[in-house]
Amino acid sequence: MAEDLQPMITPDYTPTDAAAPTGEVVIERASTPLEVGPKLNQTAADVVRFLMQQGEMVTATQSLTDDMIELFAAEVGAEIRLVDPGEEQENELLKLLEADFDQVELTEDFPIRPPVITVMGHVDHGKTKLLDQIRNANVAEGEAGGITQHIGAYQVDKEGRTLTFIDTPGHAAFTAMRARGADATDIVVLVVAADDGVMPQTLEAINHAQAADVPIVVAVNKIDRNNADPNRTMQQLSEHELVPEQWGGDTIMVEISALQNLGIDDLLEQLAVVAEVEDLRADPEGRARGVVLESNLDIGRGPVATLLVQHGSLRRGDPVVAGASWGRVRALLDDRGNQIKEALPSKPVQVLGLSDVANAGDAFVVAPNEKVAAKVAQTREHSQRIASLGRDAATTGGARLEDIFNQIQAGETATLNLIVKADVNGSLEAVVDSLQRLGRDEVKLAFVHRGVGGVTANDIQLAAASNATIIGFNVRPDRKARELAELEKVEIRTYEIIYKLIEDVENAMVGMLAPEFEEVVTGDAEVREIFRIPRVGAVAGCYVLNGAISRGSKVRFLREGAVIWRGTVSSLKRFKEDVREVQSGFECGIGLSDFQDLKQGDIIETFEEREVARV
Ligand code: GDP
Repeated sequence: MAEDLQPMITPDYTPTDAAAPTGEVVIERASTPLEVGPKLNQTAADVVRFLMQQGEMVTATQSLTDDMIELFAAEVGAEIRLVDPGEEQENELLKLLEADFDQVELTEDFPIRPPVITVMGHVDHGKTKLLDQIRNANVAEGEAGGITQHIGAYQVDKEGRTLTFIDTPGHAAFTAMRARGADATDIVVLVVAADDGVMPQTLEAINHAQAADVPIVVAVNKIDRNNADPNRTMQQLSEHELVPEQWGGDTIMVEISALQNLGIDDLLEQLAVVAEVEDLRADPEGRARGVVLESNLDIGRGPVATLLVQHGSLRRGDPVVAGASWGRVRALLDDRGNQIKEALPSKPVQVLGLSDVANAGDAFVVAPNEKVAAKVAQTREHSQRIASLGRDAATTGGARLEDIFNQIQAGETATLNLIVKADVNGSLEAVVDSLQRLGRDEVKLAFVHRGVGGVTANDIQLAAASNATIIGFNVRPDRKARELAELEKVEIRTYEIIYKLIEDVENAMVGMLAPEFEEVVTGDAEVREIFRIPRVGAVAGCYVLNGAISRGSKVRFLREGAVIWRGTVSSLKRFKEDVREVQSGFECGIGLSDFQDLKQGDIIETFEEREVARV
């Protein structure tokens, strides 16, 4: 206390006579004068007085900014290095973790591992369709009726060779991984629709792959279309240094139709050839290391992470650290949902038993024992929290998407406060990462909050308090959130295509937000019972909660706030009668075109699109 008050009385500062410490002094960011002073042979009061002279009023127990600490160090002539809290401690721990991981040269003595393949390309060119075809074809061959699980990656066998596919198409996820130093991909499949040719995202994908020095195999897709022109597409690609082999270049290009399942075998064979040439090897012995591909919270099972093993073997019972989460592996599941005992290099596995939801792109490693695992994770968690305190958004003075441009024009530096919610960690990372890159001098983006899951009333409150816009990716607000948003005038924008999301924010920043098609929710119904009817499939016995449900309307199917399917109401019945519309408060039977995976408690939301004029 005395130390807090003293500088008020004697504000003059002259450095204490003690000599400055010799050599480099390590100081944690956000230290207080009480911590900084003694490290530099001064008292806390010295620090406070000095800063006061510089016009900064601080108390002895208040955290200092980097600038303040550096200024004071310069004043007393000390050489310092600022580190994130826990960084030194973490480095020590990391040494323990890394102890056995001497760089081994992967000579021919080590076994071949499957290539890890990422599919990239322009939106709508057929990435998803291609990934689905490859996955399904393989299941049909192997085990009749087998169902693959979407765990973020899967493996297929092609003539005795295994190929690993990352199941999140698009370069946003790829880039997010790379940004975190995780080079998980060995080969990129670039999908280009032959009727559309090379488009902006095709070029971006090429750039990303080339920057990462990853070989590209081109799939010229949609050759079944009348207006498909594979030659023109190849010509365009040649202008960007991808010259097809058939023209004397060195890029493999395969013509396919993902829709009609043509050429896919050929594509897989070519991928096997490229893998052969790349001679990919790994050491399957020892503690496993790799990267987190995806991670989410499962109501029944707790945090679930899909890990891609890159070295060593991951086994049940192993103590794993992934970013700030850790735990003993309770169960390992492959892409068929089978329990497995161990996962070798290039194998994607779902892991249960982690303490927390990890970040996509985080490295994971098996620790020598549980104690080290826990310690590393806790240290990281602590330092991440402290760091985010300093970094995170201003909670006032933000602007909405719509009026951000006015602020820029008025010559003010505008801050666009955002709350980002997404369905899984992987997409959240990708969205935030892509948005971050939009920031410019005159417009700053501040992430007030980001999280996995539907948009909730809490998010709205936070947005209202911090004047933020909410961005939802593959998630929707629940009814309470929607009502509160209207009341609080909070803007919620939801997207299902990352490219569209980025485009909107980008356009808002240059004042060109296009007329918006507002999706007006016309009704929602809760699934209460599921009927399986021969030859018809699953019909949802529902209770209409709000508005009305009409036959033919567009539908979003929500589970715990996340959009898991889109389509239309294909049949609507009251008792046995086909009806056109059912109002709220009534029960009805809803059939959804080709969607069968119904569960009790799911929400069927119908909507219309209306154009809204901008003000
Ligand atoms: P993505 O955005 O790249 O993942 O593209 P999608 O896989 O969602 O495909 C976009 C649209 O193109 C969908 O309607 C697909 O059914 C269609 N599509 C994909 N591949 C083919 C193809 O080989 N031929 C035709 N005619 N349509 C295709």
